[in-house]
Amino acid sequence: MSDTSVDIDVLIVEDEPKLASVMVDFIRAAGYAPRWVANGAQVAAAVAGHMPHLIILDLMLPGRDGRDICRDLRSISDVPIIMVTAQAEEVDRLLGLELGADDYVCKPFSPLELVARVKAILRRARIHAHPETSPLQLDEARLQATYRGAALDLTPIEFRLLATLASRPAQVFSRNKLMDRLYTDGRIVEDRTIDSHVRKLRRKLEAIAPEEDVVQSVYGAGFKLVL
Ligand code: CA
Repeated sequence: MSDTSVDIDVLIVEDEPKLASVMVDFIRAAGYAPRWVANGAQVAAAVAGHMPHLIILDLMLPGRDGRDICRDLRSISDVPIIMVTAQAEEVDRLLGLELGADDYVCKPFSPLELVARVKAILRRARIHAHPETSPLQLDEARLQATYRGAALDLTPIEFRLLATLASRPAQVFSRNKLMDRLYTDGRIVEDRTIDSHVRKLRRKLEAIAPEEDVVQSVYGAGFKLVL
């Protein structure tokens, strides 16, 4: 795949099927990979082990209210959230500290306007993905990593594991997803192979920063990098 944006997952949470279908079409046409759920109660399952890059979240939903979903998501992830609301007076609260959405659109909105917001937020998110002040520095060409200024002596597979987790900090990668990224030759490996690489990587990070828990396990879901 030459177009890198094809891999950007956008979750659309919208209970009006016609509107959702328009949103899915426009998001796909913009080069992203849309997923759609219609019921608020389905969001938790939709993001478990596979956090999208961005979520478009309707406010009024069956199953679970958009505000509650936003709060749930914020407690586990910094995933960008665009709220969709018919209530213009709600906007301050949506974007405020209480809910922490990144942006909003008011119904009725033009799909092109929505796509423009999505693009702007993803651009912004990418700028912040690898801040120069990050304690972790990766040299992908040389497969060399430093943490807090100290060199990490990593095997190529440990480097790829670390680079994969670092590509989306604070987001959970399932073992399956990690296996896909680490063994691109389609080789079948067991779950515990990943666990063994994670253990070795942790040991090397702990040798530099014993107080920190950089590669964290998320029970039943996978692993995430916390810098
Ligand atoms: Ca609705």
